[in-house]
Amino acid sequence: MNRRKWWDSLHSAHPTDNFMNFSSQDNTNESGEDNLAAGIAYDQLLRCVHCGLCTSSCPTYLETGDENNGPRGRIQLIRLVADGRTDLTDRMRHHLELCLDCRACETACPSGVQYGRLIEPFRQAIEAKDTRLEKRWDIFRRGILLNLFPYADRLRYVLRPMRMLQRLGIVSAIERLGLLKLLPGRLGRLAQMLPSPTRPGPRLPKFLPAVGRKRARVAFFVGCVADAMFRPVHWATVRVLQQNGCDVFVPRGQGCCGAIHLHNGDPLGARRLADANLVAFELDRYDAILVNHGGCGAMLKEYGHHWHDGLQPHRARFADKVKDVHEFLDNLGVVPFSGRIEVSATYHDSCHLTHAQRVASAPRRLLAKIPGLDLRELPEAGICCGAGGTYNLTEPEMSDQLSRRKLDNILSTGAQVVLTANAGCLLQIQREVRQAGLGLQVMHPMELMDLSYRGEKLELKAGSEKGKMKMNVS
Ligand code: SF4
Ligand code: SF4
Repeated sequence: MNRRKWWDSLHSAHPTDNFMNFSSQDNTNESGEDNLAAGIAYDQLLRCVHCGLCTSSCPTYLETGDENNGPRGRIQLIRLVADGRTDLTDRMRHHLELCLDCRACETACPSGVQYGRLIEPFRQAIEAKDTRLEKRWDIFRRGILLNLFPYADRLRYVLRPMRMLQRLGIVSAIERLGLLKLLPGRLGRLAQMLPSPTRPGPRLPKFLPAVGRKRARVAFFVGCVADAMFRPVHWATVRVLQQNGCDVFVPRGQGCCGAIHLHNGDPLGARRLADANLVAFELDRYDAILVNHGGCGAMLKEYGHHWHDGLQPHRARFADKVKDVHEFLDNLGVVPFSGRIEVSATYHDSCHLTHAQRVASAPRRLLAKIPGLDLRELPEAGICCGAGGTYNLTEPEMSDQLSRRKLDNILSTGAQVVLTANAGCLLQIQREVRQAGLGLQVMHPMELMDLSYRGEKLELKAGSEKGKMKMNVS
């Protein structure tokens, strides 16, 4: 039976019309489907003992000092609605929308509250029940967020003329003159986020053989924005895997992980994308499905509990196979790096890698093995840079505050290179660095590891005179 037929047979055996109905063991709120909190894991509300130990790890609390903009306050707001003690007011809604869903509070919480299982379904319900005209007819959300970003080919096509203008230096001239800010609202923000032009390189082939002794057989997840904007990172990653004895398969038919849809009020669209990935990856053929961007990895690892229909066991099996590439290589035992990389670097934790996936020490352990690399610990490394998926488009003020805070912390290390393993963080920090005219290099850790294996030197950028002063470089 081919993959599509196999999948269709599962669908007919398990109708998928009961989306978001948690099973009784999830102990969800019993107050009815009309309650915005009907889909949350109610037991997580009960776990919170209001100790407040999470507040100092919350970026929006740190910036505003307002309890309602911290995890404990937000949990309390959700509980008030869940228990039917109040309807959701605009003010409450604002406090919840300001949350980055970075999940730093989960890492900090000694009671093990899984905050993501509260805020995510609650916000999905808010979105789904939002009947305001401006929401229904939000062309940016429908046209760009839901129908452009998650499709790498469409995004590449749209980016092509922009890349041409970038190569001709027209975009940087427009940026220098501040004209990008004249573009309306989120479109202007989006234009400022575009990465510097690099040659994307060809599409990854279906198979890349291991170099030397074969140690593993892995499938590689390419995603959407990551493939359209950071394909060189994908090439660097698969080369590192090959050097580590991995046969790398890149299954066709895979696509976006579904996170953009899930976090922008279209959980059914997210499920459709997730199920396409389930069809594309033949689980029994691989030791692991590897991901190199934190946001995609977190979403794939949670396929088992976003939807609760008859296909849930298949999604859970898929999720069990997913590994972040640093986590995987750290467990496998990395083949010694060859070339020296004589630069100073600092590592920023992507929220969805460190807090949602709890992968924090593996990237640092790998990087520490690169000969010559001076790895400096970043103050507040686990505090969000303000990217937060599409948060930088929807909450621009808070996003800017956080990215400036991040840049100040980066500059305090004196490092020449910033490393981070997530497309959103790369875009956000690159933009901040570009706007400040700094010569800081913003890279994915796999790119540095690849350079070392290939014995190549890292070309450092020169910043503007203003940027050099900020970095104390003569
Ligand atoms: S979420 Fe955890 S750390 Fe935060 S107040 Fe509740 S129990 Fe305390
Ligand atoms: S997810 Fe992040 S922004 Fe939201 S409450 Fe938790 S720590 Fe704060």
